This record gives sequence, C-alpha cells and structure tokens, in this order.
Amino acid sequence: MKAIYPGSFDPVTYGHIDIIERAAKVVDELIIGVLVNSAKNPMFTRDERVALIEESTKHIPNVTVKTFEGLTIEFAKQNGANLIIRGLRAVTDFETEMQIAQTNHSIEPEVDTMFFTTSLEYAFLSSTIVKEVSRYGTDVGKMVPPAVEKALKEKNKQ
Ligand code: ADP
Repeated sequence: MKAIYPGSFDPVTYGHIDIIERAAKVVDELIIGVLVNSAKNPMFTRDERVALIEESTKHIPNVTVKTFEGLTIEFAKQNGANLIIRGLRAVTDFETEMQIAQTNHSIEPEVDTMFFTTSLEYAFLSSTIVKEVSRYGTDVGKMVPPAVEKALKEKNKQ
C-alpha cells in the first residue's frame, strides 16, 4: 500500500516525525508531500523544507519526500497512492480535517484518508509554535530534530 502524507512542514517537527514513523509501519511506501502554496509566506523555502525532512527521516527506509502544488487528491493520484495520512492533535483539528477527507473521498472514491492521533507529548506542538518560540532564543531541542534546530538558529540570525 502506497500513502502520501501532505503538509506545509514549515518546518518539520517531532510531531510530524512521530506520525511519519507510525504511518511508515503500516504502509509499504510513504511519500511525504511538501505543499508549495504561493499564497502562504513560509519561513523555509521549498528546498529547505524538503532537505530538513530528508535529513530527519533518513532512518526510515520506505519514506520519500516530494513537493506538490494544488490539490492533495491530484498529488495522491499522480503518485498512484490510495491513502492520505493526516495527524490529529486536538478536537479543533477534527472539523476541518473531516471536511477535507470527505471532499477528497467524494472526488476520488478510490482514495481514503487515515488519521493518526498525536502522541501526548506532541499534542501542543505545531510548526507555528516552534517558529514563535525559537525567535526568542528558546531551546527547541525537544520539539524539532537537530537539523531543524540548527536551521532555525540560522534563520533567526538573518
Ligand atoms: P498543514 O498546513 O497542512 O496543516 P502541517 O505541516 O501543519 O500542514 O501539518 C501536516 C499534518 O501533520 C497535518 O495533518 C497536521 O494535523 C499534522 N500534525 C502537525 N503537527 C502535529 C503534531 N504535533 N502531532 C500530530 N500531527 C501533527
């Protein structure tokens, strides 16, 4: 079974890595899809986000990283994936995620969405929180992999 795990990953956190490690155990192949959205103004470029995910997932053999623009469902189809992986942190994630999953399923009934609930220690964690606290020099070593911590330090110097 081939799955995609789409997101902005700006930048990748231990919350994402946790979902990736768990999802990679239940599918044969997991493609991480880095969404390139021209309307968003990300901290990290497309290539930086890809490189940070690659570095942080190199211990997982069945994971690859790609970028995509536009609809997630099209990205799934183009890659021959019949499963979309998403993470759920809190009840607040639920409503939009359910709507997206139902829309995708009605567009393409062959593609389903599978949710992983966050591990408790990462329930509060988001890329936005990480960017916010790292800006003030707070140690983010428990929130992101070492390569991301280093990259954040560099960005905040600029
Ligand atoms: P998006 O902009 O699509 O929400 P993100 O990079 O923020 O992209 O998240 C990608 C996916 O990872 C989403 O399904 C999101 O709910 C999930 N996710 C993000 N942070 C965590 C976390 N701490 N624990 C579990 N899932 C998470």
